[in-house]
Amino acid sequence: MKIALFGTTGQVGTEVLRAARPLNVEIDAIGRERADFMLPDTVSSAVRALEVDAIINAAAYTAVDKAETEPEAAGLINQESVGALGRAAAASGIPVVHISTDYVFSGEGTRPWTPDDPTGPLGVYGKSKLAGEMALADSGARHLILRTAWVFSAHGGNFVKTMLRLAETKAEVSIVSDQFGSPTPAAAIAGACLSLAKSLADGEAGGTYHFVGAPDTSWAGFAREIFAQAGKPTTVTDIPTSAFPTAAARPANSRLDCSSLYRDFGIARPDWKAGLADVLKELDS
Ligand code: NDP
Repeated sequence: MKIALFGTTGQVGTEVLRAARPLNVEIDAIGRERADFMLPDTVSSAVRALEVDAIINAAAYTAVDKAETEPEAAGLINQESVGALGRAAAASGIPVVHISTDYVFSGEGTRPWTPDDPTGPLGVYGKSKLAGEMALADSGARHLILRTAWVFSAHGGNFVKTMLRLAETKAEVSIVSDQFGSPTPAAAIAGACLSLAKSLADGEAGGTYHFVGAPDTSWAGFAREIFAQAGKPTTVTDIPTSAFPTAAARPANSRLDCSSLYRDFGIARPDWKAGLADVLKELDS
């Protein structure tokens, strides 16, 4: 089995490369030099030249706050190039696994969002990711959209690494406690993507699915677990979102209902606390 991977240098892409090796899955890793998502034509050309069984797209514009002032870049990378990728994949008959986000939702209520729930992104990033989902769906490619959230790994920038950095100098940190969701290890997303790419290549139907870690928590709860597991004495003070203004609004309720992924593909929510232990061990080594 051979898979083309876009976004090879990111948190998820790095873990896909690592997870593929023991599975004997050959990866055609495609970086910016072969497909620059700011230039959708380069993405089409790269896909047209592929000889693979499936595509995993982990490339994205992920700077949520910066996107508010860079809507063109977010649109090109998260929407236009995803549409271009989908149309070229459709022409070659290659199925696509594409990663999306909890930020396509408004964050109202407390119930976990199902894949069929109405969307309502609050910011430019969420809007561009939703537009990308639609562009892929309209492209004619056989595809599976996997929405995830709160991604962390030993590689790249993320909340875990920010908290560990703060713990070096601070005895106390104030963290938002009224946004709820689920931390998700990039390694688990990578495993799910590889398994789903194989299912699609074997002819199974795609669709839109959710995949996040368990159990749900708040950012403050996540921070407490990071400090506890890392053996840091730093304490966490709960604050409301209103006390931590950001350029882009975040959904208060990012809980995602992942039951359809388990029902259709047997993929269960990973235990993020165990995933955190793995990442801390890797950062320590
Ligand atoms: P990262 O920000 O770690 O990596 C993004 C990847 O996209 C990098 O490989 C980057 O390449 C690539 N990329 C960015 N711009 C371009 C471009 N112009 N041309 C080609 N490649 C480009 O992302 P994650 O691994 O964290 O995210 C993976 C997926 O998960 C994305 O779809 C994201 O939207 C989604 N997601 C992420 C969440 C999170 O908390 N991080 C939460 C929910 C969903 P380069 O190194 O060259 O810049």
